[in-house]
Amino acid sequence: MRITDAMRAVFVELLVHGPMSRAEVARRLDLSPSALTKVAKPLLDAGYLIEQSSDGQKGVGRPSQPLQVDASRLSFIGIKLTADELFAVRADMTAVIQDQLSLPLAGHDVDTIVAQIAEVVRRLTEAHRDVAGVGISLAGTATPGDPVVGTSPFLGWSQVPLARLVEEAVGIPTVIDNDVRALTVAQQWFGEGVGRSSFALLTVGAGIGCGLVLGGRVVTGRSGATGMIGHLAIDDRGPLCERGHRGCARAYATSTAIRRTIAITLDQPDLTFDDCLELARRGQPVARRVLDDAGRALGQVIATVANIIGPELVILSGEAVHMYPLCADALQAALTQHTHWTSTPVPVSVKPFTFAEWARGAAVSALQHLLLHS
Ligand SMILES: [Zn+2]
Repeated sequence: MRITDAMRAVFVELLVHGPMSRAEVARRLDLSPSALTKVAKPLLDAGYLIEQSSDGQKGVGRPSQPLQVDASRLSFIGIKLTADELFAVRADMTAVIQDQLSLPLAGHDVDTIVAQIAEVVRRLTEAHRDVAGVGISLAGTATPGDPVVGTSPFLGWSQVPLARLVEEAVGIPTVIDNDVRALTVAQQWFGEGVGRSSFALLTVGAGIGCGLVLGGRVVTGRSGATGMIGHLAIDDRGPLCERGHRGCARAYATSTAIRRTIAITLDQPDLTFDDCLELARRGQPVARRVLDDAGRALGQVIATVANIIGPELVILSGEAVHMYPLCADALQAALTQHTHWTSTPVPVSVKPFTFAEWARGAAVSALQHLLLHS
């Protein structure tokens, strides 16, 4: 089947916005009814679209029934690599997770990780021949249009042709992406970004990441570098980050920095990040102050992003987002203080975080890239 741009547009419209009448699809895409019929027919014949009758049964040749994507027609594997673990999901075309697994990384050398990815893909696909793509996300510079990971600090990689190596090992089209951007893509098509032409997604965890959608497009930036907001200067009298900046956002607001500052100040080196949150919850003054400082730094980061791009929404997520209730007041106060005086503070939506969500993002990144660019 030759895929035309009109077919892609119809399919994506239905994929992202759900079932709708032929008249509605035609109106949204500025197509005549006959043009839509011509575009939809091959997609219906190939089983990518179905017509859903009001009683929930698939209908055939009933033009009055809404069109929808058959989400089960294809599935995608999404894999998120961290410094020490691999999280994987198999998701259908609407990003609903069907299966998932995780395993510890056996090492950081490329051959070892490619072999582990191949094993995971084999396990998730053995009873499913419908897997159309593999997406792999990781912290660092990577874009779906390039098979090469530029830099991945956590893995110690530079210029690794990961997508090509995995594709050769598993025999399925493979794309790579920056992890925060992949999460952003999932929100754009299947999350809070649906129907918004601009939004930002901020992640807070061991680092601070930022994915951007502007004018309906995910921003990739030069060489995959975009949203590098972690070392934004907050206060030049503040603590040092690991790169030697005094008072940058990372020095205040990452889980690593929060834990370290509280553990050193209280002289309790074994405190975990969650121990620190518990201390703050109980009102321990040092922990409270450090969480307030973290909230202020995040509020300033969000205000800066909002001042530059004017997003409709900022979604806040990441491994450390459960600290939000402990720093929300300081965050909102700083957001208000640093938002340009002609604007109102951008709405912030807090999204609970799971590692499966990172992997799901990688699956959606593969879906989006293969759908739009192949
Ligand atoms: Zn820094």
